[in-house]
This record gives sequence, structure tokens and C-alpha cells, in this order.
Amino acid sequence: MNNMGGLIRIIAVSYALIIGFSLAGCGEQAFEPIYDVPEDLQTHVDTFIAEAAIRGHEFTINNLIIEYDPELAFSTCGMCNSDSKSNDIQKVVKINPNCTIRYNEQIECLVFHELGHCFLGRQHNSDLLPNGDPKSIMIPNDFNLYAPCTYQFGEKECDFRYKRDYYLDELLDESTPVPDWAK
Ligand SMILES: [Zn+2]
Repeated sequence: MNNMGGLIRIIAVSYALIIGFSLAGCGEQAFEPIYDVPEDLQTHVDTFIAEAAIRGHEFTINNLIIEYDPELAFSTCGMCNSDSKSNDIQKVVKINPNCTIRYNEQIECLVFHELGHCFLGRQHNSDLLPNGDPKSIMIPNDFNLYAPCTYQFGEKECDFRYKRDYYLDELLDESTPVPDWAK
């Protein structure tokens, strides 16, 4: 009787496993990554990979679509469909072509923010540094963090490109210390 019970249990478990595996097999389709980035934005993806590598993060990005989408809300200059680090899903970044972007540093900052969501799994961060500047590229709706000068008013500081190194360090490592210029 005991043996029979054991046998039935083994058969039941086997069936459960077989059914389980077949269901999993049905639901899962092999992920086929698509890479499609506009030529003018490719340079920023390359820079992202290079700057990450300098900071000890090796990336292979083969699952990225970036597209210009004029249908994005007026106030949204970019978005990513995912803030997961997981690389087995298709990442899609949309950039609003109606946003006023004048400088290379601004579009780079915007693309890096979106790649921060897509490939670093970073969320928005609106914290400020002691001098009142944003702590992170992951602040929403601000891609002027390290922009060059647009309008010089008197002696007021205007060219912020020297801040780029810090913002890239922070993007790759949230515990980056406050830089001297922000103390
Ligand atoms: Zn964002």
C-alpha cells in the first residue's frame, strides 16, 4: 500500500512537472533583441558605453530602440519604457523632437537620463546638492545640468560644462561624493 502511494505520488509529481514545463514553454518566446538607433543619437549611446566602461561598468547594448516621437506630451522631452536593469527585454526610448535643444551637451544629458532608466535601473531623483544644484542627471525635466553658456548676463556664471564629470560619476555611482563646486 505504501509503495503504491509512493508510486502514485511520483506519477502525480511527474505529470505536474511535465504540465508545468509545457505551460512555461508555451508562454515564453525566445527574446530577439532589436537595435535601432537614429544616426544622430548613436554617438551618445557610444559615449554612454565608453564613459560607463571608464567607471568600471561594461555594457553590451543590443536591445535598444530610440525613436523621435512628436506625439509625446509637450512637457516630456524623453522617456524609456523600462527602469529595469534586466537585459532580456526590449528597451525603447522616445525623444520629443519638439523640445528645444541647442547644444550637444543637452541632448547627451537627455539621452543619458533615459539610458539611466533603461540600462542602470535608476529612478528619478530630485535631491539637491548643498549649493542648490540637482544631485543627479536623474532629476526629471532638466537636461541643462552641464550645458555651455547661452546668455551671459554680467559676471554671472554661465558655462557649466565642467560639471559633466561629476554628473557622469553620479549616474554610474549614486554614492559619488559632493564635488567641490557644489559645497
Ligand atoms: Zn526620467
